[in-house]
Amino acid sequence: MTSPLMPTYARSDLAFDRGEGAYLFDTQGRRYLDFAAGVAVNSLGHAHPHLVEVLRDQAGKLWHTSNLYQIPEQERLGERLVAASFADQAFFCNSGAEAIECALKIARRFHYGKGAPERFRVLTFEGAFHGRTLTTIAAGGQPKHLEGFGPTVDGFDQVKFGDLKAASEAIGPETAAIMVEPIQGEGGICTPPPGFLKGLRTLCDDNGLLLIFDEVQTGMGRTGRLFAHEWDGVEPDVMALAKGLGGGFPIGACLATSAAAKFMTPGTHGSTFGGNPLAMAVANAVLDVVLEDGFLDQVRRVAGALNQRLSGLVAAYPGVFSEVRGTGLLIGLHCEVPNTQVIEAARDHGLLLVPAGGNVARVLPPLIASESEVEDAIAILETVCKELGS
Ligand SMILES: *Cc1c(COP(=O)(O)O)cnc(C)c1O
Repeated sequence: MTSPLMPTYARSDLAFDRGEGAYLFDTQGRRYLDFAAGVAVNSLGHAHPHLVEVLRDQAGKLWHTSNLYQIPEQERLGERLVAASFADQAFFCNSGAEAIECALKIARRFHYGKGAPERFRVLTFEGAFHGRTLTTIAAGGQPKHLEGFGPTVDGFDQVKFGDLKAASEAIGPETAAIMVEPIQGEGGICTPPPGFLKGLRTLCDDNGLLLIFDEVQTGMGRTGRLFAHEWDGVEPDVMALAKGLGGGFPIGACLATSAAAKFMTPGTHGSTFGGNPLAMAVANAVLDVVLEDGFLDQVRRVAGALNQRLSGLVAAYPGVFSEVRGTGLLIGLHCEVPNTQVIEAARDHGLLLVPAGGNVARVLPPLIASESEVEDAIAILETVCKELGS
């Protein structure tokens, strides 16, 4: 049978029809421990009672009104994100790529407003991933994403991730901003050397540039802090969020200081669906849980246990895994066999993982995962190691 779907994904044959907490159930009724979490999206697992209740309640009241009117749920989410971050203002959209687009528009508009419209270029880093629109593939700079899509959108200069000297040398009279993932996700859970983010902050301050953090994957508690940049004590001027923010409901957000967003005046940006009451209600419900006292402490506790157990596997099976890396529950296992083999074998044994660049298998449990679920995952991975290591 020919598929009615564009074949843009190499999908597995699995289909799920139900989820509960850290588990997914396929259409045959088989249970999987979901340490893929919809690629770091299902931050609170599946069918979280509070999210379900809020979604049901809002669904019976109001879905969409457009940004022609006040949206109280949007005001509330904006207020809470601003209170919990460096930012003064938020713009809501529907995906990570759109949040990045907003960040890039803010950077260009900032310099335009200051009388320097020639400053429109943004410095990005090798191995980056910022989305799949024409502009965000240009920002990411991956040849495999750009091929066949015509002239690459102009305005990006790329240097080696972690290389402050190269970043400094690439800044020119047209540079507007530096954009970076605090930890590269799709690129393979790559953490830059200590001091890198701080160094970028200094470069931006010295050169009048905006610093943009792409926290689409690292944000919303994934690393054990609400935002990954908190670990470094460095604040950006602009930040993109999406993935975990809606717990599975599509939503993106771009946060900024009022200085950075000063020239984003009426008419300069917009989104039909962005910030609608339904999405806002769900994201507020996610925040209810993630901001609860002790929630991120528990994430760090479980992450610590998982990291320790994975390090044990790396030590015991060096022919399968050579390194565990990442922060919190944003974890990468560097594989010595093809990562696809590890991921398939794990899936056959009931554990879902996600591939990443550089032959890495990503381990992305929902933030609500328990230590006993971690033990179950380790037991499966140990079986996988025995199979693949022999
Ligand atoms: C997933 C991701 C994006 C793109 O998000 P979409 O919702 O797929 O557009 C951008 N940046 C990072 C770091 C991501 O992980």
